[in-house]
Amino acid sequence: MKAINLLGSTGSIGTQTLDIVQQHPDQFRVVGMAAGRNIELIAKQIRQFKPEIVAIANPDQLPDLKALIADVDPQPILRAGSEGVCEVAAFGDAEAVVTGIVGCAGLLPTLAAIKAGKDIALANKETLIAGGPVVLPLAQKHGVRITPADSEHSAIFQCIQGLSHETNFVVGKPDAGLRRIILTASGGAFRDWPVEKLPEVTVADAITHPNWSMGKKITVDSATLMNKGLEVIEAHYLFGLDYDDIDIVIHPQSIIHSLIEMQDTSQLAQLGWPDMRLPLLYALSWPERIYTDWEQLDLVKAGTLTFREPDHAKYPCMDLAYAAGRAGGSMTAVLNAANEQAVALFLAEKITYLEIPKVIETVCDRHRDNNNSAPSLDDILEADAWARQAVTEASQTLNQKTVVTV
Ligand code: NDP
Repeated sequence: MKAINLLGSTGSIGTQTLDIVQQHPDQFRVVGMAAGRNIELIAKQIRQFKPEIVAIANPDQLPDLKALIADVDPQPILRAGSEGVCEVAAFGDAEAVVTGIVGCAGLLPTLAAIKAGKDIALANKETLIAGGPVVLPLAQKHGVRITPADSEHSAIFQCIQGLSHETNFVVGKPDAGLRRIILTASGGAFRDWPVEKLPEVTVADAITHPNWSMGKKITVDSATLMNKGLEVIEAHYLFGLDYDDIDIVIHPQSIIHSLIEMQDTSQLAQLGWPDMRLPLLYALSWPERIYTDWEQLDLVKAGTLTFREPDHAKYPCMDLAYAAGRAGGSMTAVLNAANEQAVALFLAEKITYLEIPKVIETVCDRHRDNNNSAPSLDDILEADAWARQAVTEASQTLNQKTVVTV
């Protein structure tokens, strides 16, 4: 029985993790849960999973949550705000923490969990993109394992299990046998749109993913391919390969979740239906495999698997991510924050879809001369705050230009 703390319990990752817990009550138990604003759902989850501690992002909602669970016995400890979420992350006898909070809001709770010696099942990739230079050394210092829950990194992690017993668990260490990583990408919402049609993209278009059911932010990131760019950086931090050795290939069917290539050119792949529960389960069960009654992959039913090169004109965010990764230091925190803010502005219909890469590029360019090659946590948080503000300024400039043009 593994006890877990679940961050982001009301989101796509969170609800799928709870689905696993519900299906395997003999294997997993939820000790702590944290979420943002959806207190109706978290109240239901408290009734069903009976956590010992719960935190929500906004302290103003605590009285309403208390009212919703007034008859629950025993009552969980209730907390709110960033400190409360960090308390949940570090709480009790949980061995592992599933990081399903979206965005850089997941960074401090992840650090709190690591300091408390909890293993991390990492879904929240933004934590590593922004905080890699502090997260990985801290995990090493506390002897904490980071198992990837992102489907692509889980695929790589599953493939490298066979390489050698010394390297089957790798964080930040280049592997002698590993030569190249090939991340597969569905191509997102616009994979079949011509570039000329992209000026017409609406928010509704961008939050509809062809293969995966996910939160809005990551669905937009999939459309721009920033998601894959962030995953390139995540792969660099997790598996230690140079950026020249991490490639992206578009694979519209999302059956092959990623591949590795060895020194002798042999390639290994991991396959499965597009279902996030599988990488989440493996992140929690590693090194064991747990039997499930989920639909088994049927290659005949899956049919033809196709692959193509990503179109650099259609997906400029991909190149921005490689450039930020190569720059390293605080630049990846700036890229991540600029992207979060740009996507938030797009979802609020304050900027257009094509302005997302423009503002990110402007902000990364502004940071170039100030890039800090070995940032501390404070430097990262400062870079994150600066980049969000810089995106807002850049978007206002864009809007003024639009007015002038009109
Ligand atoms: P969702 O938007 O579906 O869920 C986000 C979760 O975070 C919700 O529970 C939300 O709470 C909570 N949350 C937001 N802000 C805060 C905060 N300040 N404090 C506490 N909780 C907060 O996102 P996803 O589940 O899709 O994604 C979560 C992470 O996992 C992202 O980093 C994403 O990149 C990664 N990921 C997701 C995949 C997927 O299939 N969904 C696949 C691979 C990676 P509430 O809704 O109550 O406000």
